[in-house]
Amino acid sequence: MTVILDKDYFKRSIANITHLIEEKRDHLTELDSDIGDGDHGINMSIGFREVTKKLDEIDESTDDIASFLKKVGMALLGKVGGASGPLYGSFFMKMGTDIAGKTEVTFEEFVQMIENGVAAVEKRGKSTTGEKTMVDALRPGADFLKSQTIDGNEAELFAEAIEKMKQGAESTIDMVAKKGRSARLGERAVGHKDAGAESSWLMLNAFYEELSK
Ligand code: ADP
Ligand code: MG
Repeated sequence: MTVILDKDYFKRSIANITHLIEEKRDHLTELDSDIGDGDHGINMSIGFREVTKKLDEIDESTDDIASFLKKVGMALLGKVGGASGPLYGSFFMKMGTDIAGKTEVTFEEFVQMIENGVAAVEKRGKSTTGEKTMVDALRPGADFLKSQTIDGNEAELFAEAIEKMKQGAESTIDMVAKKGRSARLGERAVGHKDAGAESSWLMLNAFYEELSK
């Protein structure tokens, strides 16, 4: 069985992200209150509510997956004031880099899309793993997917990648922050999970849930 993902898969996944973010909004805000300024859940909610509001319009005005995701990213970028807006905006805008014009992608192409999105976050944030950011969740998942042989095992691989991302988010608890607001706290940030690391694995989990349905 080869998994083929069409534009509607991406549309449904984004609707699912919005749903998950609403569910976790207060939790994300609490995490950001501990070592940031307490707005991460609100920022994500504002961003994805805007995306949801425009989702049908974006869908109708685009033919291919890359253009669709680019417009989703632009909506986030335009609406979210915090650091996470440009970072998640870049993620979606760059996901389609290698699939211009395509209306369907294979799982292999989807893995490359995730890689391109994560690389865009790293570039935009000038960040790497070990700095207590969303990169600590995203990078291990992307690396895992790239290292695997895809052979009818897409859903299992994706589930494992999500587990790596979740573990990556947990791993930020022990870290001193080098990027973002919590970097000012030095050792005081140790013992708290990074809010963006939590939201980023939740976001990818929404794609997984749609794929495994
Ligand atoms: P702000 O920090 O402006 O209040 P948010 O609270 O919405 O914005 O988002 C904070 C999250 O953004 C952090 O938890 C972290 O994961 C992520 N972040 C901040 N700066 C960077 C960076 N330079 N690189 C990668 N991620 C970052
Ligand atoms: Mg914040």
